[in-house]
Amino acid sequence: MSTQQNPIAEGNIVRRVACPGSFDPLTNGHLDIFTRASEVFDEVYALVTVNPSKKTMFSLEERMELIQEATAHLPNVRVDSISSLLVDYCRAHDIKGICKGLRVATDFDYEIQMAQMNHKIAGVETLFLAANPQHSYLSSSLIKEVARYGGEVQDMLPASAYSALMTRLAEQSAP
Ligand code: ADP
Repeated sequence: MSTQQNPIAEGNIVRRVACPGSFDPLTNGHLDIFTRASEVFDEVYALVTVNPSKKTMFSLEERMELIQEATAHLPNVRVDSISSLLVDYCRAHDIKGICKGLRVATDFDYEIQMAQMNHKIAGVETLFLAANPQHSYLSSSLIKEVARYGGEVQDMLPASAYSALMTRLAEQSAP
């Protein structure tokens, strides 16, 4: 008998993890985290957060579609949205962990409190992946800002996200 048993096929534990964010829009840094998480976990839930008080450049549907396109080659990545507490979503979907990328020390300062809170209120663990140094300077907000002033950002986003960004900026600057 093979020692390499597939836990899903065997009906054993399915290790699911949530990767939440605003993804406005998806960057190569986000995609790197989804890809690496998909190699470690059986199922990865890319969760686009709904925050009515935060103005986003892309609608919820647009942000989800961009992730869907960019992760089409990763069969164990699902895309969904959340408008309630992340830990409630995790409970409802039997997700035991949250996976976050850490770029710089300020990410850690913010994430550690969040991780401790989520563990305290729901026992949900948070696992951190060190950002790939090639992408650790990337954030959606910085990319949007640079692109708005004509800076070249093409190699910082998946192709579909780059093209959506260029289209949206052109729409916004049209008279
Ligand atoms: P941002 O506007 O900073 O990109 P998001 O809410 O869209 O913020 O990011 C979601 C999560 O993705 C963050 O909590 C972080 O864990 C991760 N992340 C964002 N950018 C990167 C990156 N360049 N490298 C690794 N992880 C990242």
